[in-house]
Parts: sequence; structure tokens; C-alpha cells
Amino acid sequence: MRRLRSVKIVATLGPASSDYDTIRALFEAGADVFRLNMSHGVHADIEARHKIIRKVEADLGRPIGILADLQGPKLRVGTFANGEEELEEGAKFRMDLSATPGDATRVQLPHPEIFAALEPGSALLVNDGKIRLQVDACGKDFADCTVTVGGTISNRKGVNVPDVLLPLAALSDKDRGDLEFACSLGVDWLALSFVQRPEDVIEARGLAKGRAAILAKIEKPAAVKAYDAILQVSDGIMVARGDLGVELPVTSVPPIQKRLVRGARAAAKPVIVATQMLESMIESPVPTRAEVSDVATAIYEGADAVMLSAESAAGKYPVEAVTTMNNVALSVEKDPTYRQVIEASRVVRRETIADGIVAAAREIAEATNIKAITCFSQSGQTVSLVARERPRVPIIALTPLMSTARRLALTWGAHCVITEPQERFKGAVISAVKAARADGFAGEEDMIVVTAGVPFNVKGTTNILRVAPCDERLISRVDPE
Ligand code: PGA
Ligand code: MN
Repeated sequence: MRRLRSVKIVATLGPASSDYDTIRALFEAGADVFRLNMSHGVHADIEARHKIIRKVEADLGRPIGILADLQGPKLRVGTFANGEEELEEGAKFRMDLSATPGDATRVQLPHPEIFAALEPGSALLVNDGKIRLQVDACGKDFADCTVTVGGTISNRKGVNVPDVLLPLAALSDKDRGDLEFACSLGVDWLALSFVQRPEDVIEARGLAKGRAAILAKIEKPAAVKAYDAILQVSDGIMVARGDLGVELPVTSVPPIQKRLVRGARAAAKPVIVATQMLESMIESPVPTRAEVSDVATAIYEGADAVMLSAESAAGKYPVEAVTTMNNVALSVEKDPTYRQVIEASRVVRRETIADGIVAAAREIAEATNIKAITCFSQSGQTVSLVARERPRVPIIALTPLMSTARRLALTWGAHCVITEPQERFKGAVISAVKAARADGFAGEEDMIVVTAGVPFNVKGTTNILRVAPCDERLISRVDPE
């Protein structure tokens, strides 16, 4: 089974998509990676979904990526005596540390470190930015505010504090528990919410101890500012447009998206464009023109993956949403303009031998009729470098490591095949040819590119490029042992 597109699809699972049949249908419709949202659902639900994904993976014989998304330091107000209150524009409203249920004049904000960081003039945004408060005066246990945009505030609504670098630990106690739990299940990726600084990523990496790759969600102004440093210590990036559009003017999201996608591609790290891509499909079986255009734009920009949130987790049409993304991808990727845009935005990096080899592989694909670039890889690093080139032909990633194959489910264009560990170059070429033919990428008459590192099974040794015929008799004749 192979996909006929290079961009990957991430589908969030939730109440609308938690049984075997739906998850399998989502995979068959095109989902390459499933996202388990740790903000919702108890551990037993998460574990059950994880188990079903691995069953689908075994039943269909294709590696599937699983991404556990940690909630991060999400701030919430306390509760109200009446459950909710109407805040009028111009009214005074106080946030404090008292657990006494709130009313129309005050509510608890149970985060002392926030009061320490606030300054007069800071903005507090409640309920996805629908309500805005401006701080007039503050102390170590209160903030007196004026309501600048009114609305209904209710129990435990989320609070965003965009203008302040918050002295918050990147991982709450809940996150630490969730991280350990997700790693013990065997997820492939951990996504960190509300990352502010590179240290946040480094801290999570220390806890994950190599069991999962770390993806930084860029959804705070501080993270946009520190993007280059955060990218350097992360394995992947999410353009988390939901909270980004709350913390910053929503019109600043498209240029940020472009910058983040280009930066991640240049660093050969997968980047996901997320949130509201097909929002109307939560309720409707067909998308709006604007939504189709949004998905297409992310693909034209060269994103590794596009993501569904509520559309697949809680919507009425989860499978239709994946099918829509798949069809948009097919349409974009066969457009000659797509190739032009992708090739014009390529960042040339020629620092290592591997850089040179992947560039040569891509050029051969442009100049000749080879059918695929096959790539032997332990860590997946060489595959990421090939993907950075965004070549015209499919990338077949050959690895003996299931964990590598699953992580690469997020990487643009990578079709992963598990192989025996290789010992000799000739055997490797034969394995590559077999994989290309078995999955329908090439026929006996065709040629493919094989990249590998010899000696095998040593990390970071990519040093061979072979253009091989797909006829095994020819390989046996010409290749050295
Ligand atoms: P969330 O993250 O869905 O966990 O909030 C994505 C976003 O903010 O866009
Ligand atoms: Mn978010």
C-alpha cells in the first residue's frame, strides 16, 4: 500500500474516532499520523486508542506514526458562584488567588507566578481571546483590570497572557505524568504546547530519554521570537495556529506560518500546519472554498504535514475530512506550479557529504527518468535530508528500526519499509529494488537511486549513491560485494 502524494496527514483522535473501524477507515483514507490529545480523555481512553492504532498498523502492514500532544502550562480561571457571568466593556474586573467562587467583579486565577510577571498595561485574554482585559494595577496576589472586550466568562475558561514571558515551567505535573505514560505506551512523537524557550524542549527531551522525538508547538509570541533557537533543539515543529491567533493578531499568522515552514524545511525537520484547516467539516460533509485553499496553501509552501483537530476528533465527518485533505494534496502536487514553487524555495545547504549525496540524488531525479530515491537509514537523518530537497520522485526509506519508520511517517514524501539489517552493499541494492518493485514504485525496466552508508548500521555515514537497474540479474552482474 502506498500513498500517491508526498505531504502527510495528521488526524487527531477523539470521541468521533475511537473505535477500530473508524481509525482504520481514517488510515485508509489517508491519515499517516494519529494525534492523541492529552488535554482531553483519561489515560484509559488514550491507551485504548494507542492499542487500536498498533492493531491497524499490524493488520495493514504499514508503519503508522503516533503523536501524543501534551497540554502544557495552560492557564485557567477558577469557578463562578453562578457558573458564568457577563462582563461588560468598560467594567472593572479583578483576578486574584482566593478560591472563593467568583462573581461579576472578580474570579480566581490560581497561578501566583502570573501575578508576579504581570505589569500594568498587560493584556489578559479569556476564552480563546473572546474576552480581553487590560491590567490597570497588580500585586503579588491580584490584578485589577478593565474589560476592553466583553463577553460571557464561565468556569475554568482558558487564559492567555500574550505579552509577557511567563515564568512557568514548560511541563506541569500533569504533563510529566502524561509524558511518562505516553512514552511507556510507545508513542513516536511528543508535542509540547506553549513552548516559550529552547530550554523547554531540552527539559522534555531529558525526560523522554530517546523514547520519543520532540515536536515544539509554536503558539506563543515568545516562541516565534526564539524560533531559530527552538528549532535547533527540536525534532519537529507545529504551526499551532489556534493559540497563535489568540496571542497575536490573527492577520500575523499567515506570514508566521510561511517563516516557520521555510525554517523547518531548511533545517530538515518535519513541520505540521495545524488548526481550523477544514473547520466547517465538523458539521458539514463538504469544505468551504477558503478551507480547501488553506490546505492547498500549506502544501504549496512545502509543509511536511497538514493536520485535522476537531474535524477528525469530534466532528460528524472525520473520514470525509481526511479524504478531502488527501484529494487537495493530489490536486496540488500534480500542478506544475507546485513543482516550481517548491523548487524555487529550496534552501541550498552543502556542508556535509550527506548534503552532497542527497542533492545529487535529487538532481538525477530531475534530469532522468529514475522512479524513486531509496535511502538506507538508521536514525532517519538521511531520509530527512532527502526530504528537504523535495525531490520529484518518491522517497523510499529503508530501515531495520520500526521506531525510525514510525517517526518518518511525519516526513514529507517518506514511504517507509522495514528491512533486515544490511551487511553488504550488493544485498542492500537488491533489497532496495525489491522494495521499490513490491510497492509499485518501479518495474523491471526502470532505474532507481540507492543511497546508503557503508559500513552499514553506523549512524551518519551516508557516503554512497548508486543508480541501479530494477532487474536483479543486472545488479548481480555489475555490483561489487
Ligand atoms: P491545541 O494546539 O489544539 O492543542 O490548542 C494547536 C493550536 O493551538 O493551534
Ligand atoms: Mn494550542
